Amino acid sequence: MRFLDTNTGWAAQHHPGFPDYAETLGKLRARLENQLRADSQPERSGVGCFDCGGQLVRHWTPLGREDLRECRHCKRTYSDPEYWLALRAQLQEASHHDRRE
Ligand SMILES: [Zn+2]
Repeated sequence: MRFLDTNTGWAAQHHPGFPDYAETLGKLRARLENQLRADSQPERSGVGCFDCGGQLVRHWTPLGREDLRECRHCKRTYSDPEYWLALRAQLQEASHHDRRE
């Protein structure tokens, strides 16, 4: 630990940007994350579509995530409450399945 203390002390005295270091890193990270999101693939969920069992995805917009999820297969859209219903149905099915085994 003494090595770390010594070096942190050195950086605090000799590195002009040291006090802002942590803050800058935080900002940089937030900016990177925003950029990644803008380019990123739609967010996939593990929940299947009620109608066809297709994968539900949520697309990214410049403002963030869309409120609606869309089935990749039949294009049915799900609002948040509908999505949670589908999620719950799937979890219940999974727990039934576990009990049988
Ligand atoms: Zn579907």
